[in-house]
Amino acid sequence: MPAVNARVDALTQKFALLGGSLPHTLSPQIHNTLFDARLLNALYIPLPVPEHSLASAIDVLRQCFDGFNVTIPYKEAVIPFLDELSITASACGAVNTVEITEGGSLIGHNTDGTGLMQALTEALMPVSGAQVLVLGSGGTARIAVHELLLRGCHVTLAARHPEKATALLQALSAAQEPPASHTRVTALCDLPAENQHYDLLLNATPVGMYPGGDVSPVPESVVERCEAVFDAIYNPPQTKLLSIADSLGLKTANGSGMLFFQAVEAQRIWFGRVSPPKVLREVRRALHGLF
Ligand code: NAP
Repeated sequence: MPAVNARVDALTQKFALLGGSLPHTLSPQIHNTLFDARLLNALYIPLPVPEHSLASAIDVLRQCFDGFNVTIPYKEAVIPFLDELSITASACGAVNTVEITEGGSLIGHNTDGTGLMQALTEALMPVSGAQVLVLGSGGTARIAVHELLLRGCHVTLAARHPEKATALLQALSAAQEPPASHTRVTALCDLPAENQHYDLLLNATPVGMYPGGDVSPVPESVVERCEAVFDAIYNPPQTKLLSIADSLGLKTANGSGMLFFQAVEAQRIWFGRVSPPKVLREVRRALHGLF
């Protein structure tokens, strides 16, 4: 990999991750490794910004950068500053990738859904028509349900505050054409008493994430009624939920593939072309050990 100082010059394209506190982000390593593999004269940096500076930071990004990603806590807050939204970002009410046009317009996209679906297909299964149990009712649950409904899945959304899950499903179902009907909401605490079976369990809560401790969002009695388990968490790579699923002999995957593929999709938006599969395989090998 060339040293950063050896390749940064006046023509270098600049990209950033706009977020709050970013001490543990892996996005710079992923994007810069992809740039190197594609021989692009481009650089990606973390840009932690306090809330009161959000407007001025976006102004600087618009004028001086070529594109940026957005993470917690600005995935929704960034929207009023943008000129246009993609259909997916609009349906999900969240933006994680911003394209800057030559004229300086900001177009908001959401690549988390593409990343999630590619990761699921690669590591576990194609999800079309599957019975899926999604845990959580936040941003990741929303994008996951959006993508699952598009693929004709039967979705059960389990949340600690079921009213939030109901509101999420109503908003997303109404946006589907035709409106989605295979959906159900349940309280997370009621899952152990049910006997429903699922093709896939998808954890979209931070339960089990570093440094929160070795805990699972659902007990073994729920996991054993599923065929495969996907945990959006990538730190630690082996969560308590995945350990339970592994011990039951289920297919499992963590969130590292999702993180990688959402970055690949962001670069497709910024550069207008996809990296060849051979390059992607090499980059993943180079990033091995990062997750
Ligand atoms: P979020 O918008 O804050 O939503 C979190 C959800 O989890 C909310 O529904 C919240 O419930 C629920 N929750 C939080 N603590 C809980 C607990 N102790 N018990 C039960 N439910 C709980 O967060 P997010 O952005 O969706 O992120 C969720 C997870 O996905 C995080 O671990 C994040 O790292 C991961 N993620 C991974 C990727 C990737 O590329 N792999 C991308 C994005 C996110 P309430 O609404 O009741 O608070």
